[in-house]
Amino acid sequence: MDVDIAIIGGGIAGLSAAAWLANDRDVVVLEAENSLGYHATGRSAAAYTECYGSEPIRRLAQASHEYLTANEGLTTPLPVMFVAQKGNEDRLNRLFASFQPLVPSLEQLSPSDTVERCSAFHRDAIAGGVLEPGALNIDVHALQTDYTRKVRSVGQTILTSAPVTHIDRDDGSRWSIIAGDHTISAGILVNAAGAWADHVAVMAGVDPLGLEPLLRSVFTFEASADSTSWPLVVDADEQWYFKPEGPHVLGSAASEIPSEPVDARAPELDIALGIEKITNATNLSIRSVRNTWAGLRTFTPDRVPVVGFDPSATGFFWLAGQGGYGIKTSPVLGEITSTLILNDTVDDRVTAFGVTRAELAPDRFRP
Ligand SMILES: Cc1cc2nc3c(=O)[nH]c(=O)nc-3n(C[C@H](O)[C@H](O)[C@H](O)COP(=O)(O)OP(=O)(O)OC[C@H]3O[C@@H](n4cnc5c(N)ncnc54)[C@H](O)[C@@H]3O)c2cc1C
Repeated sequence: MDVDIAIIGGGIAGLSAAAWLANDRDVVVLEAENSLGYHATGRSAAAYTECYGSEPIRRLAQASHEYLTANEGLTTPLPVMFVAQKGNEDRLNRLFASFQPLVPSLEQLSPSDTVERCSAFHRDAIAGGVLEPGALNIDVHALQTDYTRKVRSVGQTILTSAPVTHIDRDDGSRWSIIAGDHTISAGILVNAAGAWADHVAVMAGVDPLGLEPLLRSVFTFEASADSTSWPLVVDADEQWYFKPEGPHVLGSAASEIPSEPVDARAPELDIALGIEKITNATNLSIRSVRNTWAGLRTFTPDRVPVVGFDPSATGFFWLAGQGGYGIKTSPVLGEITSTLILNDTVDDRVTAFGVTRAELAPDRFRP
């Protein structure tokens, strides 16, 4: 198969890039697993917040907001509430001061207001809260389906069960790729392989960037109170979080456990830690855990995604290192991938949010 662009990875990153490129170039997405979104994408907490991650991440989220809300069915309102234990008022004040300039709608809540929003707390035990009223819950499956439709509806190809095992540069300076039963020739290779992105680079003869996959596990449980109207509640020191998940609650110890790129499994100890942290901080009793899972959040050395052509290898494009923010930033990262490849530029619409090409470029990790 001959294409303009081969995208390695059928997670949210590869699919978003394909969706933005599909009208203008012949594209193929190559996914190793037999279904799309099997790894990090299918295991996220599905939150859109402008108060989580470094400042570049938060600007990328804001630049994605329009897409996520203009397309029906992709998101529903889910405010985020940061809380701190009594005695930790300073932490909440600092958090408010650091987030508020970028998110003017942020509100400071008294202990009573905090308990009114979430009955899992004792009024006397907490310092209060900081509320982001405009945060969202993302329907990750709907977003993935939206991207997939955009690719397939214009006749472009997505292949599953197509693990890339061999990458070569042929004489005509095209990439020659073996992916399962398929041999593909492509002018440009987009590396959207998530936790495996450094491995894919090495396969292509490109130096790795030092990406670090960090495991985070989550669990769902039945709350001892009606949780359906609760916000996503995050500890001000990011030691744990929980959110309503239908009639149940999803919780996490917010751990970051170094891992090889693997099919991640939730360590029992990490689930126990999450239960302990959440029960200590709230009046919830977690008697039975319904479900557990884990995924890899893969970070670059500076924790900002890497998006752009590698300066050392013609036609090798990085779209990786989205860490714990790859769902909410996928619209704008797909758009940036497309405009960099098609026009060698980042559009004014995106730079208006303060997003710069340089802060995403792989050049920053090269000597
Ligand atoms: C517990 C948890 C909570 C999270 N919560 C949020 C959240 O609330 N909001 C948010 O925005 N983000 C969140 N994230 C982060 C988000 O899930 C990731 O940033 C995002 O899914 C990364 O997408 P990706 O496409 O880069 O990676 P992946 O979904 O892992 O996709 C990469 C794909 O590449 C494929 N691949 C690898 N090597 C090859 C090869 N050689 N050949 C072919 N295919 C290959 C893999 O099979 C995989 O399917 C969370 C993550 C976790 C784990």
